[in-house]
Amino acid sequence: MSDARKTQRMHTPPFRVGIGYDVHALVPGRPCVIGGVVIPAPFGLKGHSDADVLAHAITDAVLGAAALGDIGALFPDDDPRWQGADSIMLLTEAWRRVAASGWQLANLDAVVIGERPKILPYVATMKARLAAALDCLPEQIQIKGKTHEKLGALGRGEGIAAHAVVLLWQMP
Ligand code: MG
Repeated sequence: MSDARKTQRMHTPPFRVGIGYDVHALVPGRPCVIGGVVIPAPFGLKGHSDADVLAHAITDAVLGAAALGDIGALFPDDDPRWQGADSIMLLTEAWRRVAASGWQLANLDAVVIGERPKILPYVATMKARLAAALDCLPEQIQIKGKTHEKLGALGRGEGIAAHAVVLLWQMP
């Protein structure tokens, strides 16, 4: 490594931010899994795995912050191993790789966007499940539910989207 490169690395701050986004269609007859919690509903999210839209956005955010690829590269959706997969397990495996690179979670902030179902009654359980997967405290996680104000496909209740932002840190 050149001296310039070494100096550059020395001065890289011990923080990394990551962003994740996902969207899944709502269909009848599927379990509605969001943030690792099965929400009782007559409809659920369509996808190859359990289609946990929030867990997927968070997985991309932590992988992105650590520059370790993305969920599609790690767990391809044409691979039969991930059919019906518990997305919390996928997040746990992604986090294992991120942590192995020396990163710890500072905080996670996420938004779940859709007209239905209402997620507020389930947020505390989601935080507990996600904190276990990310080896952090539930207090480091914030999850907000928003409607799409009846606008577009999300506003018609055809699907649910999620955005996630994480900050990772490591000892300098
Ligand atoms: Mg997804």
